[in-house]
Amino acid sequence: MTYERVLAPLDSALPGLEALYLDFHRHPELAYAETRTAAELARRLTEDGFEVHTGIGRTGVAGVLRNGEGPTVLLRADMDALPVEERTGLPYASTARGVDAEGREVPVMHACGHDMHVTWLSGAASLLSAAREHWSGTLVAVFQPGEEAGAGALRMLGDGLFDLVGAPDFVFGQHLAPAPAGWVLTRPGVLMAASDSLRVTLHGRGGHGSRPETTVDPAVLAASVVLKLQTIVSRETAATEPAVVTVGSMHVGTTDNVIADDAVLEVNTRAFDEAGLLRLRAAIGRIAQGEAATAGAPEPAEVELLRSYPVTDNDAALNGELAEAFLAHFGPEATLPAPLVTGSEDFGEFGRAAGAPSVFWLVGGHDPEEVITAMTEGRFERDIPSNHSPRFAPVLHPTLRAGVETLVIAALSRMAHPGVR
Ligand code: ZN
Ligand code: ZN
Repeated sequence: MTYERVLAPLDSALPGLEALYLDFHRHPELAYAETRTAAELARRLTEDGFEVHTGIGRTGVAGVLRNGEGPTVLLRADMDALPVEERTGLPYASTARGVDAEGREVPVMHACGHDMHVTWLSGAASLLSAAREHWSGTLVAVFQPGEEAGAGALRMLGDGLFDLVGAPDFVFGQHLAPAPAGWVLTRPGVLMAASDSLRVTLHGRGGHGSRPETTVDPAVLAASVVLKLQTIVSRETAATEPAVVTVGSMHVGTTDNVIADDAVLEVNTRAFDEAGLLRLRAAIGRIAQGEAATAGAPEPAEVELLRSYPVTDNDAALNGELAEAFLAHFGPEATLPAPLVTGSEDFGEFGRAAGAPSVFWLVGGHDPEEVITAMTEGRFERDIPSNHSPRFAPVLHPTLRAGVETLVIAALSRMAHPGVR
């Protein structure tokens, strides 16, 4: 199954897609501020003959192409960038700034490759629209806001996405990964972790730095909680069950001679099933309460759930069919099994809400020679910048082409007329 006829115009479309990618890369926008990006994507969908809906879940865009009898296939890409200062040294590096959710001015960079994701989907939507005589069904292109902020998919769903475009029968999505450019990595079952973001507030009793005996020092309490949290993975979790607990932020006090009232920790967890995630959440609550009681805190600790991502769980049968189609197109040297990924995604919400099978896969975007050298010399973790790094710098070719091809193949694998294959 190669779908060469549908993919043939991609060669001549590539310069335009390259320009589009560079434009998105130079103009990254934070979660729920993707107005420029959304407007451009909506304009292109309209030009390609899609019925276009905008402002879904604040800044989300969905295009529908109804093309006769057949299944509804939803292709999803996320649009948002990160508060990261770009240090790639690329001629098209971002110098953009934005305002974060707390109202602070921050640098903004497409450090997770979402600029590539939207370019891929825009390119695939154009090709599929131009090849309407070769398939039938309903194609839905979803450009989602706020993936990094957690709730973008749920916001679009809560805003009636499926009332506007119809509930999909199949859901597909992909992510740029630090693997050799042009490689496509698939995995049946769970691919990416579930994750919680929690805020733990520890109440103490403030006072003069010289008289700790009159206080319950939240700095000491917080330090003790941070250390004790390390035992959730090391002592409470089976060695065969991957899990992560990270304290990413701690805030206590304002100056050296004042003991503060409270301390606030922000904790991030990863697990590979719902039960594992709930177990980590419960253990964090138990430890925070236990340490607060031990310190003689005047009030119990408070644990708030800020965000939660589901596991990205690929339908095994659908993934198998897709992996075969990728193998036929990209060949065995570029079609590989994906490892378990501790990163998280809210892509799974679309399939879950529709009760439809979904598959998410990874497309490599890094200089193949650099990656392979780093791998063979055991320096991969140190030398290859991960997603979210200020040095995350995907190469354009063949990355751009590969991600358009995967989406077209995924859509056609459900919708193509038999003769096209
Ligand atoms: Zn990311
Ligand atoms: Zn991402």
